[in-house]
Amino acid sequence: MRPYFFEGPLSFSSMISQIFLSAGWHYAPQEQAGLTVSVRGEERTWQVSVLSRDGSVSQVFQTEGTRGDVGEAVMDRIYALSGLSLGKWGYLVGMRPVKALFPFFAEGEGWEAKAREFLSRKKVRSDTADLLIQTASRERPYIPALAPDSGSAAFYVHIPFCPSHCIYCSFPAAVVAPGEDLSEFTGILTEDIKQAGQMMARKGIRSQSIYIGGGTPTVLPPLQLDRVLQCIKEFVPAGEHCEWTVEAGRPDTLNADVFSVLKKAGVSRISVNPQTMQDRILKMIGRCHRAGDVFSAFDKARTWGFRQINMDFIFGLPSQTEKDGAENLSAVCKLRPENVTIHTLAVKRGSPFFGKEGYFDMPPEETVDRMLTKMHQGLLEAGYHPYYLYRQKYMRDDFANIGYSLDGQDCIYNIQMMGERQNVVGAGPGSVSKWADSRFRLRKMYMPRDPRIYGKRLAENMEKRSEMFKI
Ligand code: SF4
Repeated sequence: MRPYFFEGPLSFSSMISQIFLSAGWHYAPQEQAGLTVSVRGEERTWQVSVLSRDGSVSQVFQTEGTRGDVGEAVMDRIYALSGLSLGKWGYLVGMRPVKALFPFFAEGEGWEAKAREFLSRKKVRSDTADLLIQTASRERPYIPALAPDSGSAAFYVHIPFCPSHCIYCSFPAAVVAPGEDLSEFTGILTEDIKQAGQMMARKGIRSQSIYIGGGTPTVLPPLQLDRVLQCIKEFVPAGEHCEWTVEAGRPDTLNADVFSVLKKAGVSRISVNPQTMQDRILKMIGRCHRAGDVFSAFDKARTWGFRQINMDFIFGLPSQTEKDGAENLSAVCKLRPENVTIHTLAVKRGSPFFGKEGYFDMPPEETVDRMLTKMHQGLLEAGYHPYYLYRQKYMRDDFANIGYSLDGQDCIYNIQMMGERQNVVGAGPGSVSKWADSRFRLRKMYMPRDPRIYGKRLAENMEKRSEMFKI
């Protein structure tokens, strides 16, 4: 990979990095970069320069339009320099491709024809365009077309602890043993939840979905988990048919006490995430459970009456083969979870795996591509439909993460989070609260990721959050 450097508005940096990544370039400090891209200007008038260190490339141009238009102009230049042609996403690189179709929802029933024209103008491959239209159709009932609903929000609680650290993941703040006392943390978190819920009640905001994520929330001792869930029940105003998810992601944290606490609170959806169903890979990626534990946790969850269960899988894990991919598909067909999310490995900065891929036997991209295609086809044949889709900054190749659901079982929270047209009230360390203005531009407020700093600064941050939700 060749090194590049970017300078310009922060809101452009993720898009620019994905464009370069797709062309085989990686970010580097300016003194090491072979190519520097600069974007300057204001909304709709941009001055862009693409300069190489040795002076062999020097392009300075002005472009009118949105951030996406700037991305297109940069792509044209970078791809020409790299000798590449557009891939299956066409110009929709560095953005959420389904989200690019939302403006057409305002057209009413004619939205699909307009969206297809747009995808063809953006040179998106026809099978990819079909996938995007199909996904957007599922999302449409949950995405406001004209203006955000100021009386509605998703309520998100972040619990940043896990029973072990999966090597590709940057989420957990700490590893704790199941049952380890976290009462001090729980006390602070419930204060945060209570204040957030009271603020929502004062401002007339009701939650359309509640999502307890992390981390692994079910690593909390059952009594402390109960305290958190009961606090939500007591203080957070819930709208009609409010969906309530708890990520019970790790089967090694699930037992009768935990299920009983979830059930008592009225949790309607849980995740039991295998990531893959081979013991050798689970061990290699740092998980302390076996594939058999997934089957038994899933069966117990059904026995406890959970009717909406999600399973997450990751493709592209070390040593994963097409046979392993087929085994994952057959586990889904056997268990029939209502939701399945297929991720491709995106190694994040801050994860233990970052920069160490070379030490592992990584499946080639063509193998991952074949596994994903077979999984996609197998899921369609088994009655699942794609209902949300997104691409990530550190994602390999042309891949995407896709959520599939059985009919009538779409997860509203997932759709609305990826759609970024919904307000979010966040509680817990590392949570983000978001407030959408009339043009769906989001103001954001972040809680500190470190639980100690989060606790120390809670009073001032609760105040800031409350300020942000001005109605
Ligand atoms: S993948 Fe899930 S269980 Fe593993 S470390 Fe990340 S948040 Fe924890």
